[in-house]
Amino acid sequence: MEPDPQASSTEEPRKSGTVDPDEEEEEDAAVYMNFMKRHRCYDAIPVSCKLVIFDTTLQVKTAFFALVTNGLRAAPLWDSKLQRFVGMLTITDFINILHCYYKSPLVQMYGLESHKIETWRGDSFQNVYLCYSSQFLVSVSPEASLFDAIYSLLRYKIHRLPVIDPESGNVLHILTHKRILKFLHIFGKKLPRPGFIRRPIQELGIGTFSNIATVQQTSTLYDALSIFVERRVSALPVVDGHGKVVALYSRFDVINLAAQKTYNNLDMTMQEAVRRRTCHVEGVIKCYPHETLETILDRIVKAEVHRLVLVDTADVVKGIVSLSDLLQAMVLTPAGIDALLS
Ligand code: ADP
Ligand code: ADP
Ligand code: AMP
Repeated sequence: MEPDPQASSTEEPRKSGTVDPDEEEEEDAAVYMNFMKRHRCYDAIPVSCKLVIFDTTLQVKTAFFALVTNGLRAAPLWDSKLQRFVGMLTITDFINILHCYYKSPLVQMYGLESHKIETWRGDSFQNVYLCYSSQFLVSVSPEASLFDAIYSLLRYKIHRLPVIDPESGNVLHILTHKRILKFLHIFGKKLPRPGFIRRPIQELGIGTFSNIATVQQTSTLYDALSIFVERRVSALPVVDGHGKVVALYSRFDVINLAAQKTYNNLDMTMQEAVRRRTCHVEGVIKCYPHETLETILDRIVKAEVHRLVLVDTADVVKGIVSLSDLLQAMVLTPAGIDALLS
């Protein structure tokens, strides 16, 4: 008769060289952290990509049109007087500018029409909008580890991290959470699978499960922009009167207003705003509390989205599982770096 491996493992005295289950669990938890420490930012950069840099004397309106035309989400800012990069221009900045200057569909947004990037950034009146963005450029060297890149993205609560060659001073690429997780998905296939990835997401506590920022489908687009500004979240589940998710509106979708030149009417309802956007993602990409981390990782990477909306069986919003939450839990927490997202 074959010995029962489970019985022998508990009843036999531990032989020297056998792995302690606690140690095994610790090693397990460190798999992704070690992978990120072993790989450099350079490894995750594509062989070719489009990069646009804006001089701070450029008009904000022209800059956002240039982002749209080039199909980009962000650009480093170059100050020609200081002869250095001084920050980034992202869709969040576009949202802040619209929110700041919008009055009604009948009043022209003078600030958007006439301001240069440097005027907007330098105006102390705008501090309410600029206070949460870093006043200096957060960047990383190509030789730095992906672990360092993840740390900077989460520490500074940003979504765009330029990789700058320290010798030439050139921006080589703009790293994002998406790119880093995709790199892990492709090149981490041979890694041992840690036990915890088969556990349910809610049991692992990965994500945000309370005080979720949502927007009613009957609210206006201006209301949604106000929530983006006040709550600093990257996306809003759009809900009906019962709290059921009917769509997802992310900061990225706001750039459609520049593409379609419809930023003069922020009084439209969210239903209308969702209908008008050019979105390649069909429906809402969701997940359920009982689903495993493995399933969720697979879904979020394949869908190429920044977050999943956690819902109950009635589609009522219960949480958000974002790439930031996943990288925090899989890479930073095992290194003893906790709660960068709170
Ligand atoms: P989005 O999600 O719209 O792309 P981010 O979350 O990256 O925007 O940006 C939030 C704020 O931080 C913006 O005001 C942006 O200009 C600023 N920011 C983004 N990336 C950097 C960076 N690498 N260094 C300094 N500031 C940044
Ligand atoms: P970014 O690449 O700038 O991080 P996002 O992933 O937030 O952008 O959004 C890219 C597009 O995918 C947007 O049109 C957004 O509405 C859509 N999207 C993002 N997350 C989801 C989701 N969970 N369900 C449905 N659509 C989504
Ligand atoms: P992100 O900006 O998506 O990278 O996420 C940063 C943190 O904000 C994560 O902990 C997310 O779970 C959380 N988060 C993202 N969107 C929302 C939202 N709509 N409501 C509440 N928390 C959110």
